[in-house]
Amino acid sequence: MLNVPSQSFPAPSSQQRAASGGRSKVPLKQGRSLMDWIRLSKSGKDLTGLKGRLIEVTEEELKKHNKKDDCWICIRGFVYNVTSYMEFHPGGEDELMRAAGSDGTDLFDQVHRWVNYESMLKECLVGRMAVKPAIPKGLLPRSQVTDTTTKEGPSSPSYDWFQTDSLVTIVIYTKQKDINLDSIIVDHQNDSFRAETIIKDYSYLIHVGLSHEIQEDFSVRIVENVGKIEIVLKKRENMSWKCLGHPLEKHNSLLPKKDRGSYYRQCQLISKEDITHDTKLFCLMLPPSTHLQVPIGQHVYLKLTITGTEIVKPYTPVFDSLLSEFKEPVLPNNKYIYFLIKIYPAGLFTPELDHLQIGDFVPVSSPEGNFKISKLQEVEDLFLLAAGTGFTPMVKILNCALINTPSLRKVKLMFFNKTEDDIIWRSQLEKLAFEDKRFDVEFVLSAPSSEWNGKQGHISPALLSEFLKRSSEKSKVLLCICGPMPFTEQGIRLLHDLNFSKDEIHSFTA
Ligand code: FAD
Ligand code: NAP
Repeated sequence: MLNVPSQSFPAPSSQQRAASGGRSKVPLKQGRSLMDWIRLSKSGKDLTGLKGRLIEVTEEELKKHNKKDDCWICIRGFVYNVTSYMEFHPGGEDELMRAAGSDGTDLFDQVHRWVNYESMLKECLVGRMAVKPAIPKGLLPRSQVTDTTTKEGPSSPSYDWFQTDSLVTIVIYTKQKDINLDSIIVDHQNDSFRAETIIKDYSYLIHVGLSHEIQEDFSVRIVENVGKIEIVLKKRENMSWKCLGHPLEKHNSLLPKKDRGSYYRQCQLISKEDITHDTKLFCLMLPPSTHLQVPIGQHVYLKLTITGTEIVKPYTPVFDSLLSEFKEPVLPNNKYIYFLIKIYPAGLFTPELDHLQIGDFVPVSSPEGNFKISKLQEVEDLFLLAAGTGFTPMVKILNCALINTPSLRKVKLMFFNKTEDDIIWRSQLEKLAFEDKRFDVEFVLSAPSSEWNGKQGHISPALLSEFLKRSSEKSKVLLCICGPMPFTEQGIRLLHDLNFSKDEIHSFTA
């Protein structure tokens, strides 16, 4: 609903157009792009029909507005009149109508909870839902629940702190063995100190205003096997602290990860390098007082304000090159995040991103995504199917498989592009295939020049059945697929036809 990633924009001539038979993708009419919506919402037109008034909406009132020409939707307690947005919704009017006259929060969260609807639908805000006078016994409204340890969730973590003359150490006891440096994200900004620990699909947050000043840099350590995290802060002045600080919003709360709002920190653009004619390697530096490592196979959101509206889009961090990580150990506390980003001249976000100057700041979210590194455990044959920038999640997976997966026998990448000029890191891929016998790469072009004598066409049963040869009949296989949504959907169907099971396939989506 509301604003799906661009792979759902099916311009007939667009590089991202949908194939027939794919997921419900609805071609938007002329003049109904996201940019057109931003223009309309800034035009001063009364989009709520309430002439700027905000009202309290009862459930009965909300239910009445359930038609295409009069459609209200509630998201997280706020009600929006989305009637004028209907034609601009990239997922189509019918998808939006599924929430008409009702609370669409769950539906919204399922499809694209990361979308900053508050900014997108600012001018459609009708008001808040009226709070019900009586709360059923034993239940609290969602917003008031801070410690939500559910039966399915992990046992509740806890924290403690201690100090020396110069240091303050915050200790988080996660009670989970498989905690690592990817599991903890720490940000110290202005007066807020925030440490979010990801435990399976849950988020445990420590959020305090520290009682005294600390220095910019701090260290994060993991005591493996006991699930203990230590954050060591350096005091600015050597004095005894009476308390750690005062609690801020959602301090000491355990929530399902999906219910924890996005958190952004300002990262600085350090460099921008041409990789192909339209794809660039961006390097962003995290603030000194942030600890964040993006786990393999996960993405982050970048945020830009475009003509007054905040827009976020997902991007998948890579390494600075395919090969460098094979020479040097990964730094435990990496301060730089690299992205391979294709610039679409007619796109909304990437031209703006491309206009950023070195030294400019971009807000970067915490990581998201459902790839689990455990999927690589004991894998013998790894097949990677990538189209265009769908190559980006494969970079870290390839690296991790070749370095950290002892069981691995073969990694094969089938990389689909239009032309030779579009192939990202072609020479690095060829070099790696030459140097490491376990790795093979196959390029497939949909619009090759007459000189091309490699594979051509689109993803197809013939290409896949030839490519997907197991090293032994019963080898443990993982297939990863990523590219334009219709490519991925078609690929998954073909893989099922070739008898690969659901557990053997991982597809990357937002
Ligand atoms: P858009 O405005 O979305 O436009 C893209 C294309 O669609 C253009 O050709 C445009 O002309 C056309 N178009 C736009 N609006 C319409 C319309 N209304 N009707 C028809 N056609 C239209 N990309 C990367 O480069 N690197 C990554 O690492 C990366 N990681 C991703 C990770 C995830 C999980 C996902 C879901 C996507 C990822 N993407 C990545 C894609 C990225 O999020 C953006 O979708 C992409 O950068 C395009 O953004 P844009 O706003 O510039 O283009
Ligand atoms: P592109 O250059 O437009 O396409 C790459 C190749 O895929 C081309 O050969 C193209 O063939 C082919 N292709 C496109 N649509 C197809 C379809 N429906 N069926 C079969 N083949 C198809 O790709 P791009 O512009 O780089 O776009 C990459 C996509 O990957 C974006 O949609 C982006 O959102 C997505 N992505 C997702 C993630 C994630 O984690 N989910 C990460 C990175 C990127 P044609 O010449 O016929 O177009």
